[in-house]
Amino acid sequence: MPILMLRRRQELGGSGRPVRSAFHGTPRGCESRSEQLERNELHMEVSLSRHPIPYQLPLGSDGYERIVADGTIASKQLLVFLSHDVYDFIRAQSREYAPQEIGGVLLGQYCIDNDTKFVIVPTAVACDLGSATPVSIQFPPEFWQQVEEVHTSEFPGLLRIGPYHSHPGYGVNPSGTDHATILGAFSKPHHISLIYDPHADQIGYTCWDDGALKPPSGCFVYEHREPEDLVKQLMDARPD
Ligand SMILES: [Zn+2]
Repeated sequence: MPILMLRRRQELGGSGRPVRSAFHGTPRGCESRSEQLERNELHMEVSLSRHPIPYQLPLGSDGYERIVADGTIASKQLLVFLSHDVYDFIRAQSREYAPQEIGGVLLGQYCIDNDTKFVIVPTAVACDLGSATPVSIQFPPEFWQQVEEVHTSEFPGLLRIGPYHSHPGYGVNPSGTDHATILGAFSKPHHISLIYDPHADQIGYTCWDDGALKPPSGCFVYEHREPEDLVKQLMDARPD
């Protein structure tokens, strides 16, 4: 699956590489009505608790060419299966922009097989619109608007599984800022926050268990024989 890279044209420098803008979001008092609506929609979207849909666990399932674990997989918590396209993209983008942080949003499905709950993440929307520094990244309202457009038009049925971002040289634990921002916005049982450190070449995600944030775990990376079919299956699995 292609990873969608959203960028503002005016941010493209002569090299074709996006130039970091000084965009810090619109002050609340100056919000337009559409921005307020959009903020409310985002709030509604991520504050919804979703039920997991019955779906076969990728491990041992036909259709998957290869599944490898990156890092130590924590037991007794939500498992994460990341497509190798998303995985490769996050690693490449993190390295290209280091020491700046990069980030985006993962789209996928929340599933259950017997008692095992897991998410499959076949695609992502990358953010090139925010202001990134070596220690933080912000997702501006216009990014969420574009995520909404892409999500509704191309991936109906999938869920926003959570944000990903890079930590160039400071590990896969969420920072204090992460706690105050993205972790608070994505705190339902189907939500994860994925962090990649390009220096250590380490990936880890945190998830929630009864309102408590679990320590970072490694994830599974899969290659599927028919990735487009998989996405269609995952979208059709949640018709609401
Ligand atoms: Zn962070």
